[in-house]
Amino acid sequence: MKHILVTGGAGFIGSHLCEKLLTQGNEVICLDNYFTGSKENIIHLLDDHHFEVIRHDITMPVFIEVDEIYNLACPASPVHYQYNGIKTIKTSVMGAINTLGLAKRTKARVLQASTSEIYGDPSVHPQTEDYWGNVNTLGPRACYDEGKRCAETLFMNYHVQNKVRVKIARIFNTYGPRMNSNDGRVVSNFIVQALKGEDITIFGDGTHTRSFQYIDDLVDGLIKLMNTPDNFTGPVNLGNPGEISISELAKLVIRMTGSKSEITYMPLPEDDPRQRKPDISLAMRELKWQPVITLENGLEKTIKYFRSL
Ligand code: NAD
Ligand code: UDP
Repeated sequence: MKHILVTGGAGFIGSHLCEKLLTQGNEVICLDNYFTGSKENIIHLLDDHHFEVIRHDITMPVFIEVDEIYNLACPASPVHYQYNGIKTIKTSVMGAINTLGLAKRTKARVLQASTSEIYGDPSVHPQTEDYWGNVNTLGPRACYDEGKRCAETLFMNYHVQNKVRVKIARIFNTYGPRMNSNDGRVVSNFIVQALKGEDITIFGDGTHTRSFQYIDDLVDGLIKLMNTPDNFTGPVNLGNPGEISISELAKLVIRMTGSKSEITYMPLPEDDPRQRKPDISLAMRELKWQPVITLENGLEKTIKYFRSL
């Protein structure tokens, strides 16, 4: 039985990951400061004797004994990470240092939840891992993008200098049950608006694109990455290459919910990437992984979840 720490374990992705790791027979420690996560997300796990929760802020060191660490602690939606940009940078950078320090002392494997945002507004399409990105260091998204870029650098330096066994996952837009309904992300926004019969808000003209992966596919990819041999560090893209424009997504959600919502157009936020699609050849080769859940199937499950709320 492995002792596995999941920082940000009470968040959207973290709670699904904790759940899956428990079903695989591990001892799981969820660490969270509840900034964007909630007890509600993990309440169904609390009766499991192999599950433990620590209320802690990852910008402060943590002293426990573990075999593996998934470092997910960080607000992920633009609304939340821009709420206190300085804190977002501290969470990414000091959080990485504290997580890596713990991994170094305990000799644990450690996985960083990096992001497609490190590619910024990409000029290479689809994005491959060897593309260095196009990020505005001063813009409103920089606190998140640059924090995550610095965290990747820290991971690689601890690996080279201190032989820490690291894995870097570049996660592309992920959706599913337990997404925060008020964090402003496009899938949750559109579904909630459609179910309430409110206007669907498209930012910009709706021609910009994203590629959405369902949560179960991502969790599967993260665990596969953690279990690759020590000489494979990544970075590796984890995403669904099915690219869709935001207008098409709006129409799909309206159709699938049977909603009477109208579409309204609002200004595109500053530095909003125009296109995003992962090249997942590396994940397919090294992890033997690729997403299996179609957008329609994933949206169906997500709509069902939001309807139940
Ligand atoms: P989330 O906001 O639901 O989860 C983040 C969790 O981290 C929350 O539970 C929050 O309370 C916790 N947290 C934040 N700051 C903390 C701190 N200082 N100390 C301790 N805990 C803290 O977001 P998510 O979508 O589950 O994202 C999880 C991770 O995956 C993040 O690192 C995010 O950057 C990364 N990621 C997510 C996506 C996506 O589409 N959801 C895409 C790329 C990368
Ligand atoms: N978006 C939108 N309407 C919304 C919320 C988001 O048109 O109500 C757009 C947003 O401008 C972006 C895309 O949808 O172009 C994805 O936004 P999200 O915040 O989900 O993810 P990110 O921009 O971080 O990829």
